[in-house]
Amino acid sequence: MKLTELLKEDTPSISFEVFPPKTESSYDSVRHATEEIAKLRPSFMSVTYGAGGGTSKYTLDIARDIKENYGVPSIAHLTCVSSTKETVKERIQDIKKAGIVNVMALRGDIPKDKVGEDRARWDYRHAFELVRELRESGDFCIGGACYPEIHPESRDRKEDIYYLAKKVETGCDFLTTQMFFDNNILYSFLYKIREAGITVPIVPGIMPITNAAQLERAIKISGSHIPERFKNLVDRFGGNNHAMLEAGVAYATDQIIDLYANGINHVHVYSMNKPEVAERIMLNLSAILGR
Ligand code: FAD
Repeated sequence: MKLTELLKEDTPSISFEVFPPKTESSYDSVRHATEEIAKLRPSFMSVTYGAGGGTSKYTLDIARDIKENYGVPSIAHLTCVSSTKETVKERIQDIKKAGIVNVMALRGDIPKDKVGEDRARWDYRHAFELVRELRESGDFCIGGACYPEIHPESRDRKEDIYYLAKKVETGCDFLTTQMFFDNNILYSFLYKIREAGITVPIVPGIMPITNAAQLERAIKISGSHIPERFKNLVDRFGGNNHAMLEAGVAYATDQIIDLYANGINHVHVYSMNKPEVAERIMLNLSAILGR
């Protein structure tokens, strides 16, 4: 099922993101975790693509397992910046063979050793080139990434939204946001992108922080603003794993309820392969989700 169909529904719904194992030895534990999350029957699940593509096979295996064995629609991520045209074409064929119709088209982060390189010769420089390739290769539902707090490489908000609009015009059916911890930042972003003529569905991405080290990593990846209220919570409970799990889930739940209350129907949760986090959030929202 194409996610665009699900995103048309006007009742609150939730989806979860999982990531593939980095090595074969952790495949079984990751697959078990993703299956436990699938059993919660979210409206869909996304499976990320390891930087550089080393885990591409696992991305597809897990996305297919979720769809075929648990009846949960899945979306496979695909990145392009470290790949050749030939490799990307092969990956797209693999996605088709796996019967996956939803693809998240991403550029991927520039590998450290390539940062200073002349990019003119690269096969892919930006995600829109992958979006175009997917559009030309089949009947896919295509998602793209967006950044309520601006992508770190963008000069300013105007430039960020300008290229986002170009990416959408190339063929994105919807956009999922980078994590954010202050909903007002999302509301202001939505206002600005709608004003710029971007009308596709926007799926807010929420990251439940369940330990202090995870927060540090999250800030490093996303550069997200951390509200005082959230800082206090991590200062107070960060040293106690059980307490931080409870507090992090409560904060994420609060963000999600506020999003629903403000008319957003679908929220994506970066569940980080943690079924206990996904389950607690679902439980907190059970009446809202009509479960
Ligand atoms: P782009 O859309 O190409 O944007 C990157 C930068 O280039 C921005 O500054 C943009 O303004 C600029 N830009 C875009 N188009 C042009 C243009 N035509 N000319 C000039 N500048 C331009 N990474 C992974 O490795 N695997 C994953 O599975 C993964 N999943 C993600 C899911 C989500 C929801 C998000 C938000 C991020 C994810 N990432 C993933 C991280 C992502 O790959 C990085 O954030 C990457 O740096 C940018 O990817 P993008 O697709 O947003 O790139």
